[in-house]
This record gives sequence, structure tokens and C-alpha cells, in this order.
Amino acid sequence: MGFEQKRLFDFDEPAPWEEDERTERLVAGVVFPDGPPGEFDYTVPEPSAETIEVGCRVRCPLGRGNRPVIGYCVRLEQKRVAGRPLKPIREVIDRRALLSPAMMRLTKWIAEHYLCPWAQVLQAVVPAGVRFQAGTRNTVVLSVTPEVAEQLDTLKLPPKQAAALRALVAADRPLAPGQLARLAGCTEGPIAALRKKGLVTARRDRISTGDAEEPPQPREANLALNPDQQVALDTILSALNEGRNETILLHGVTGSGKTEVYIQAIREVNGFGRQAIVLVPEISLTPQTVARFRSRFDGVAVLHSHLTDAERHAHWRRIADGAVQVVVGARSAIFAPTPHLGLIVVDEEHESTFKQASAPRYHAREVAVARAKMEGIPLVLGSATPSLESWHRACTGRYTLIDMPRRVLDRPLPIVGTIDLRQQIHGRYSRGMISRQLHAAIHAALGDGGQVILLLNRRGFSTHIQCPACGHVVRCPDCEIALTHHRTKETALCHYCDHEIPAPRECPKCQFAGIRYSGQGTQRLEAEVRARFAGATCLRMDTDTMRTRGSHQKALDAFRRGDVRILMGTQMIAKGLDFPNVTLVGVINADTALHLPDFRAAERTFHLVTQVAGRTGRSERGGRVLVQTFSPDHPAIRAAVRHDYAAFAAGELPLREALLYPPFGEMIRFVIRGPSEQQASQFAAELAERLKHSLQQQGAQPRVLGPAPAPLAKLRGKYRFVVHVQGPNRHQLHQAASEATATLEPPKDVQWIVDVDPLEML
Ligand code: ADP
Ligand code: ZN
Repeated sequence: MGFEQKRLFDFDEPAPWEEDERTERLVAGVVFPDGPPGEFDYTVPEPSAETIEVGCRVRCPLGRGNRPVIGYCVRLEQKRVAGRPLKPIREVIDRRALLSPAMMRLTKWIAEHYLCPWAQVLQAVVPAGVRFQAGTRNTVVLSVTPEVAEQLDTLKLPPKQAAALRALVAADRPLAPGQLARLAGCTEGPIAALRKKGLVTARRDRISTGDAEEPPQPREANLALNPDQQVALDTILSALNEGRNETILLHGVTGSGKTEVYIQAIREVNGFGRQAIVLVPEISLTPQTVARFRSRFDGVAVLHSHLTDAERHAHWRRIADGAVQVVVGARSAIFAPTPHLGLIVVDEEHESTFKQASAPRYHAREVAVARAKMEGIPLVLGSATPSLESWHRACTGRYTLIDMPRRVLDRPLPIVGTIDLRQQIHGRYSRGMISRQLHAAIHAALGDGGQVILLLNRRGFSTHIQCPACGHVVRCPDCEIALTHHRTKETALCHYCDHEIPAPRECPKCQFAGIRYSGQGTQRLEAEVRARFAGATCLRMDTDTMRTRGSHQKALDAFRRGDVRILMGTQMIAKGLDFPNVTLVGVINADTALHLPDFRAAERTFHLVTQVAGRTGRSERGGRVLVQTFSPDHPAIRAAVRHDYAAFAAGELPLREALLYPPFGEMIRFVIRGPSEQQASQFAAELAERLKHSLQQQGAQPRVLGPAPAPLAKLRGKYRFVVHVQGPNRHQLHQAASEATATLEPPKDVQWIVDVDPLEML
């Protein structure tokens, strides 16, 4: 997967034109999203040489048939063309570069880091709406010369013409005749008269038909910061003022006032005439979040996944023109074409939704780190529960750590209690998913007029094997990963290394005979809640009930208004929401996340419990969190209950280190899938062999795990296998991955993907 330059000609193909080898010519390096990987050289003929820039799209003849294909110009140089002559590009498509030189460097970095062809990265970074110029049309536009603008008051004109001319001067940008007529409140007649008199000039241009501009809102003043917030702001400002690249990890509990710190830092950045990008998880892009930024800044662009192509294009243009001060958006907003970026903020930096699930499989936080470094600006990562990757870098001095351990206005953190499900099994009250204690707490909260959130993290499936009597979970001796129960073969399997044992009939630890394979869903929970609390309105939120656009917001609005008393759902309800009237949060089973076949299972569980606990006690009413678990003594759960991130990290990091999992080792994951189980597994085995071979050649300790069936071993009719490479040296792993895949030819129906720094292990 190298990016070495290639030539397009086969040796036997005669060159269709002659060239003098001694003269220097302008040569463009071009990459093709829908062509072979690698960079190809083309000459740039005269008329195109005037307009071409790096970052423009070009149309070029490709292959023997000289099929015209669109590519991106990634390099321009004057050079002598020796040997076989180059083909000329046919056309420059864009009038100005779609990507700045800085963005070209960033996309190149992404291509190399995530082992993805550069062209594919470019295609992902430039929105389709921009490529197809959605929402624009090519039309005649009118403008006023400065000389005419100066004489505006002395010109003798009929009133309508004068009004139209004045409106065009005031607009301060070219307008189509129709747009000007609307603005001036006249017909196009007076405008045509102005054109005849030569007072306005006309040319053809591409203009936006829509408007990305937002209605102005009343400005709100800065809040007076508390001492913790002030320290955080001062740290950011000192990096800003010194024009230094520095990554600052803002570790602040939920409600500690992190957002206010971001806002005040961005105001400072805007004061220098620079822009800021704020990344938030898509799910946190609520009207409340947006309103908070709109009430503080003039030019805010909000980029979310529901924008139309035309809207996205309009935003892109406004941002590129420098008309936007703050870009607030989900993952891909990290590619916003801000002309003069001053600060990047990644809020909830631990969130896994910052990682893209399709190629290029980038993590927006890591891209933010790279972009901030390239642009020499500060980066702020904010979280109540930082990723262990960021935390480790902060502890080892690569990032600056700032703590905000208290909520603003001394609001208390909620009290978190655990309910030991192991006791339930021995009692009479063992039916269902809601324990006696939780039932009583819900009853009391409803009686006091409060609202309740119930969380069941049922991520698709959970088939770990757990003893309900002692809580023991059956794990792989080599990987520390929970084994997965396979019903068909009655085995328990490690999804990292393929270790397999017969499914146990009794608990290996306490010999309890009722060992069970867990699997409970939100639907079952809903039925139980409705049966137990028939008088209370309740609502279930998960990917099944929240399919349609806007349903998410509608459900949350109903809950906020109090129309719904009990809200239950998957982790989708755990994040970033602020409900003052919620007095009880119940976690139905904290263990579902804890025993997923994933080395990050404990971290995920800690995040989940801590985040969901942050949903309550936001107002004076206080609040309570009850966590049901078979493993109340698990370090992740004990730390979450005490809101003690540092303790969690201190316990978890040594486990990661022992097995060289991230952040101590790098990891690359391959997923191979195909309709034939045997073919897919054979191909996966060949890939694993090649990886081992390459690592041995480099003198590295090969730690190639698998092939093993993926936890989701069969998906949409395809068998899935995984291979992991792990090691302390990123460079060695990259090289092994490149070498192993360079000449790899999968059988016809077999596909493979490569995922660098993978997050999704299912
Ligand atoms: P976080 O982003 O850490 O969860 P927020 O910035 O959302 O915290 O702050 C939580 C709440 O406290 C918000 O309603 C915010 O308006 C308020 N707040 C933040 N800073 C202050 C302050 N210095 N004084 C008073 N209220 C504040
Ligand atoms: Zn294993």
C-alpha cells in the first residue's frame, strides 16, 4: 500500500506524441478515487497551467483506453520528463483548490497513518455537496466598481434604479439580477437600465442559491469563572498567546463548566481574527448545545449528519471564506476548511463515535492532534472520563493535564450505589430484570414527582458466560478477554486468539450448577416496566425505536416536558443530556459491557456508569444512581461508583501494559469476510502468516493473534474472521501491514479491511 509513483504506460504501447526530453515541463501528480492506488504523473498543457493548483480536481486519461477519470492534483513541479512521455491532463475541474496546502498535508498523514489510499481520504474529506457544487448555479452576477460606489450619492438616477444600486453596494458581494430585485424590492427593469448605463458590471459566476446564514441572536455575556475554570482558561490562553502547539487534557466531571471554558477561549481566538473548531459527538449536537454557541458568537456553523448536500456546500463556502468564527460539529467537522485556524476543541474526547467505521477509518481526535500540530495551534481535549490513550499521554508529559474535580456552584455529584445481583439469585425475588431495591427506588422517585432513567446497554448481543451465584466470568487465559458462548457447538471461544473450551456446565470457580449465558434486551425491559409501573408513562429509546429522523429529539423533548416519566434505553440516553428533574438513574446490568469480548470492556463500563451518573443531580433536587451488577467488586465498577477516574486508570493501565494493549502497544486489526467459511478462514490464515513473516524479517517480536472468528462470526450471510497485530513499535506494524497486503490477492468473494487503532472489536 505504498504511494510510490507509477507510470501508466505498458512497455509495448507506442507513445502517441513526441516530446523533447530536455525541456522542463509542468508535471502534476494525480491520485484517483475510482482508479488504481498510487500517484500518477501527467503533463499540464498551456491553458490549464494557468488555473491548476494542488488540491484541484482534474480530468485525466487513464489506462490503455485513455478513459477520462476524475482525480485530485496532489503535486505540481517543473521537471524534465525523461524516458517515456507522459499523457497530458484534459481539464482542470475546480476554479480554486478544494483543499488548502495544510489540508493536503493532513490528508496525506491520514492516508499513511490509517493505511488508506490518499485519493480515498480526499474523497471522504471533501463533502459530496462541495464536489457537485450542490445548491449553486452558474449565472450572471452583478457587481459595482469602487468608482461607482464612491459616486453613489451624487449620481442622478430614478428612485428605483438608485435603490437597486444602493442595495448592491450594501450587499458587498456579487448578486444575481433576481436576488438584487428581491433585495431592492423592485422588478428587474431598473436593474437592466443600470446595466445599460454601465453602472453595474456583469459576469458569469457560480453562486449559492440557498443561504447558510443563521438569524442573528441576542448576545450573552461571559459567565464569571470559578477558580478551577480560570486555571483551565489561563492554561489555554498562555498556549494561544505564545502561538504554541500544545495538547491540553481538560479532565472535568460532568457539570464542572468545561463548555464555558471552551467558549471563553474561543472568544480570545476570534479576537486574533482566527477561527475555532469544536468537535462534539453527534448525539450531543442538541438544540441546547447549538443555542449555547449561537448565543455567544456571531458566525456559527453547525455541521451534523442530517445536512443536505446544498447546506453542507453553503457551510463549506462560508467557512472557507472566513465568515464563520466557530465550527461546531460531529466527527467530520475536523476537516472544516477554516482559513486561519486558531484552536481545536474535542469535547467528550473518549467517545467512540469519533472513530469512523468505514474507510478511511480515522479517529477525529487523533486527526485533531495531527492538525493542531501541523498548524501550530493548541488543542483542548475535554472529558469527565478521558480515554486511557489520552490519559496515559497526559501522565507521561506529552499532554498538559488540567483537573476540574468539582461541579459549578458546588452542586453535589450524585450518590451511586450498587445492587448485588448475586444475592437476588438466592432470594425468592429473582424473576425479571428489576431487583427489589431498584423497584422500590423507582416507586419512591415517581411518588416524589421525579423522573427516572433506566439504562440497559444491550449492544446487539452479549453471550458471555457468568455464574449468577459468585459472579465469575469465564475468560481466555492468554488474552484476558471474556469467552463467548457458541450455542451451535456448545463451546466457549476467545475472539482474539481462537482459544476454545467446551461450554462449562457448572461454574469453574464455585461449582454452582446454574451457570448461565446472559442475553437480555431493552424490549423485555420495556414489557417489565410497563407491567410493574402501569400508571407511569414510559418510553424506550434504542436504535430500533429511533429509526426516523428527528425521533430522537422528539423523544427527549417529551421527556424534558415531563410527558414521559420513565425513559429507558441503550447508551444513546447516557450521554450529554441535561435533565434537571431526573432524580433516579438505574443501570439494569452493568456487566453487559463489562464482559464484551473487547480489551476495552472495563473502560467502556467505567465510562458508561460514570456518564449515566452525570445525568442526574444536575439541579437542587439532587439525585441517585443505582447500578445492578453481578460484579460489584470489579475495579471498574467500584471506581465508577466513587466517581474516581484516577483510581480506575491506575488499576486498568497495568493490565493493558502487561499484554501490550493500547496505549502501551499499537494495534492493527484485519477483518476478512466471505460467503464460504473455509475460503475466508484460509485467506485470513495466509494474511496472518505474511504478517508474521514480515515482522520476523524486521527482527520484531511478532504478536499476530488469530485468525479467529470475529465476535459477530456471521453477519449478513458472510463469515467473518479477524487477525490482530500488536506491538510496541507503530512503524514496524505499519510496515508489516503494508508488506503483507501489497501483493495479497483474495479469492473472488473474499473481502478484507484494515483498521489501524481499532475501537470496534465485534
Ligand atoms: P460541562 O461542559 O463540564 O458538563 P457546563 O459548561 O455545561 O459543564 O456547565 C454546567 C452548567 O453550569 C451549565 O448550565 C452552565 O451554564 C453553568 N456554568 C458553567 N460555568 C459557570 C459559572 N462560572 N458560573 C455559573 N454557572 C456556570
Ligand atoms: Zn485469547
